[in-house]
Amino acid sequence: TRNSELSCSLDGGDNGVSEERVVVLVIGGGGREHALCYALQRSPSCDAVFCAPGNAGISSSGNATCISDLDILDSSAVISFCRKWGGGLVVIGPEAPLVAGLANDLVKAEIPTFGPSSEAAALEGSKDFMKKLCDKYEIPTAKYQTFTDPSAAKYYIQEQGAPIVVKADGLAAGKGVVVARTLDEACEAVDSMLVKGVFGSAGCRVIVEEFLEGEEASFFALVDGENAIPLESAQDHKRVGDGDTGPNTGGMGAYSPAPILTEELQSLVMQSIILPTVKGMSAEGCKFVGVLYAGLMIEKKSGLPKLIEYNVRFGDPECQVLMVRLESDLAQVLLAACRGQLSGVSLSWSPGSAMVVVMANQGYPGAYEKGTVIRNLEEAEVVAPSIKIFHAGTAFDSDGNFIAVGGRVLGVTANGRDIEEARERAYQAVGEIKWPEGFFRKDIGWRALSRQLTSKR
Ligand code: AMP
Repeated sequence: TRNSELSCSLDGGDNGVSEERVVVLVIGGGGREHALCYALQRSPSCDAVFCAPGNAGISSSGNATCISDLDILDSSAVISFCRKWGGGLVVIGPEAPLVAGLANDLVKAEIPTFGPSSEAAALEGSKDFMKKLCDKYEIPTAKYQTFTDPSAAKYYIQEQGAPIVVKADGLAAGKGVVVARTLDEACEAVDSMLVKGVFGSAGCRVIVEEFLEGEEASFFALVDGENAIPLESAQDHKRVGDGDTGPNTGGMGAYSPAPILTEELQSLVMQSIILPTVKGMSAEGCKFVGVLYAGLMIEKKSGLPKLIEYNVRFGDPECQVLMVRLESDLAQVLLAACRGQLSGVSLSWSPGSAMVVVMANQGYPGAYEKGTVIRNLEEAEVVAPSIKIFHAGTAFDSDGNFIAVGGRVLGVTANGRDIEEARERAYQAVGEIKWPEGFFRKDIGWRALSRQLTSKR
């Protein structure tokens, strides 16, 4: 049968991972999942890539076969699909199916699954859980206390002084954090979460924590339950406007490597933050398998990294720049993670840089119109070398044109010798795309570029 063919193992991998044929199902349908499909399709050991639900660009690029009608929150439907099509590895991109326990059910059904259980996903889903783990395993993070009583929270705020940070415990669509410059602002945030309940149950506990001053950085590691290996550095731009202004978004662009994360800092983050987290989760009986994405503050006064938050999945759009730089067989590496065999695995990366510029719908992150036509994508992809356009919110209209149906719509990605070349190519491609209703930031990578220029001087 197809299944027995898949389990036939061919030894001889040169990066510590054996070469075994596999069919992969990617769960999700954004730019991140398109990038994962792209890298999996390039994996020598990957026989086929499916993506549920996928999107118009993923299917038309040939990077995966999209299964648009598979309900990714219905575990038994996903399990039946894997049994029917020989799915030997499931890679879960977004947070909703993780929180819903898709990984728990797939693992129970003995399907290798890259993504944490719903219990382990609490590292992202509950800030209080994350902070308690930090306390117990001595992971550097901002000093804090958790409250359900508004008066106690306000008393603590008065005691600590401003600036101070107030956070809803649970997931609040990226809006649950208030960096308060004044005591009044902090107390108002407490009232809106604990008294008015603006975030519902996500805000019925609040964390009040020390304001950390410094530069933010992201760090990604693959985790197999006991071991972790770092990914290359990447950094995104969260704000909608040039100069990092305006409201927060899912991310308007990213680049890799991120010069702020020096090798020394990366190894410090592994030793002081990532590995203690992995060991701590295991000791708590809550093994973590998947991507740990740490939001860090590199403190100005000490130069040392502190953990601000965890996400339990690849960042989107950081995943796009990582996947175009990855040279290793992703399918094999993710299978090794599912099997607790990451120890000794090393990843290879293209030596240059990569950049992704996100094209979003006019109005995003607020309301936007759906259904506008996007043209010239094929031409844009060949306007310069090493360009890859990842699709997020696209669909086909009845004439077979791509139309925009989401907030963030395209991730125009390019590799280059260095960040300048990657940027030039990505923006050249953006310039070719005919979509008057779309917009993009014109300064992706500015921090990295200015760091590079300063170091050249
Ligand atoms: P979070 O959702 O916890 O990552 O917080 C969102 C943003 O709030 C972070 O990216 C930081 O810019 C800021 N932030 C969160 N916690 C702190 C802190 N303790 N000190 C300073 N800024 C913070």
